[in-house]
Amino acid sequence: MLNKKNRWSLVVFAVIVLLLVGSIFFFWMRANDEVRSIVEEQYQTQQLILTQYVSYSIGELLNERVLLLEVVAQKQQGVPDDLFRSEFETVYEVADIYYVLEFIDANGTVVSGYPVENVPLGFNLYSNNMTWAFEHVRDTGEVYISEPVNTMEGIFGAYVWVPVFENRQFRGSILGIVSDENIITQFETTSDSSNYVYIVDDKGMILYDQSGTYEKGTNYLDHIDQNDTDRLHVLEAQMGGMMGNGKYWQETTDGSEYVLVSYSPINWYNQRWSVGLTSPGDAVDDIILSVYVKLFTVAAVSVLFILFVSSQVYIILLNWNKTLEREVEKKTSELQESNESLTAANIKLKELDGLKNEFLSMVSHELKTPLTAMKTSSEFLLEDRCEPAVRNQLLALIVRNVDRQARLVDDLLDISRIESNRIKFNMEPVSLPEALDHSIENIRRLSESKGVVLRVDMPQSLPAVIADRDKLIQVFVNLLNNAVKFTQRGGAVTVLAQDSGDNIEVVVSDTGIGIDPSHVGHIFDKFYQIDSTSTRTAGGCGLGLAITKGLVEGMGGSIRVESKPGVGSKFILTLKKAQS
Ligand code: ADP
Repeated sequence: MLNKKNRWSLVVFAVIVLLLVGSIFFFWMRANDEVRSIVEEQYQTQQLILTQYVSYSIGELLNERVLLLEVVAQKQQGVPDDLFRSEFETVYEVADIYYVLEFIDANGTVVSGYPVENVPLGFNLYSNNMTWAFEHVRDTGEVYISEPVNTMEGIFGAYVWVPVFENRQFRGSILGIVSDENIITQFETTSDSSNYVYIVDDKGMILYDQSGTYEKGTNYLDHIDQNDTDRLHVLEAQMGGMMGNGKYWQETTDGSEYVLVSYSPINWYNQRWSVGLTSPGDAVDDIILSVYVKLFTVAAVSVLFILFVSSQVYIILLNWNKTLEREVEKKTSELQESNESLTAANIKLKELDGLKNEFLSMVSHELKTPLTAMKTSSEFLLEDRCEPAVRNQLLALIVRNVDRQARLVDDLLDISRIESNRIKFNMEPVSLPEALDHSIENIRRLSESKGVVLRVDMPQSLPAVIADRDKLIQVFVNLLNNAVKFTQRGGAVTVLAQDSGDNIEVVVSDTGIGIDPSHVGHIFDKFYQIDSTSTRTAGGCGLGLAITKGLVEGMGGSIRVESKPGVGSKFILTLKKAQS
């Protein structure tokens, strides 16, 4: 689960990502309009190039085909004997746009032609009142092309008049009828199903309409609504022989359709035509749609990329944050721990300071008490008025107090050696019964004087222990001394010893006053006394058990205590068994 801080950072992060994604979409939408106009412009440029190509090709074709007739007309420097029949056949085949080729003599009569079945031999222009073009070429000496019409031959086409002269003498005219069907079939491959080609002349007459909407020979202007300015504008430009692009709306059976048109002129001798190429606006929409799809894909990929990268960055930051938090937590708890241990150490120091003060006053008391006794005794002795028996008692008192002070000093020296690790242990196999006997002997007088019974219970076969004999005796003496000291008259002190695997366990128990549980954990501390008042009955300065523990542990053993106030105490020692 995310904590509050992380939730906030997630919200901030999400807002940034949304802004990024939003701005990408904003720019994308803005780009749409531009894309549309750019694509439309590009499309129309291409369409215009195609239209130019078509108009140029048709113009070239027509001019070239008429040129063939001019060559025929001039080549012979007059009219050949067969009246151009063989030339007509060749040109007819090569040009491939003529419905028929005829030769009309100077009297206006059709005298030859090819193909024969299309030739109205003997037909006279003068008798049929059709002399205008014939006389025009005769008078000007130039090629003339009549505007396309539905001919009497039943086709829609243009008449090409090429005058024939011999020695500047008019001999007649070659007439070629060009069928528009023949022209257009050569270009139909240039348009696909959605594009339509149409051709109008400079008066707006429809010469060709690939879509089949308008009839040939009718005028385009008659089909256009006078309010349709866009379309009128296009047509006027076409009639003016211009080249360019236009757009308009066209009514269809399904409603209205957006049309893109390009136009380009055809100049064919005296004829001025114009090719129009139309395509539906949908064509651009399709291209735009494909561009949009690509743009959208790019935008979507960018968004996904941004989302992916930013989520990765977020996760890294989150983890980093977590690591930092964990680190801070760790350091804080370490600081707390060291603070706690410093506090504990401080308390301990204060306690030690208190203990030291107690110890100093106690040591002073312990040292001063025997000194006082010794001083008084010595003064008595100096006066030399004592009975010999009294003198002996005084001397014995002095000796006892000297011993007491010497013991105290020994204890102080021992604890200092133990603490500074300067104590030497002379480890050897030691017989436990022998060491215990020796120790008990040491305190027997005290126990007897206090009326405390001493008992020893151990198997005779008990193996030896590894220890420093003197120090082991010192340990037992200390424990037994305390046991006797803190047991009332009539009580008992028992020493038990038994084999416990690798160790020998020795238990020194008494039926004495016992130790309150609140003190049990401290009695092995140096200078620790349960009753440390100067009025206490038992002697000692709280070093006995600290020395005992130091010695036992120095010999590789351990010591612990079990006690019940008013019932008694048990000091349990484990000592290392000697290898047998
Ligand atoms: P001291 O030399 O003053 O006796 P110790 O270190 O030997 O000092 O003992 C510390 C304290 O432990 C004693 O002051 C005493 O209160 C308590 N203590 C030691 N042994 C016994 C015991 N067998 N029974 C009751 N209290 C004991």
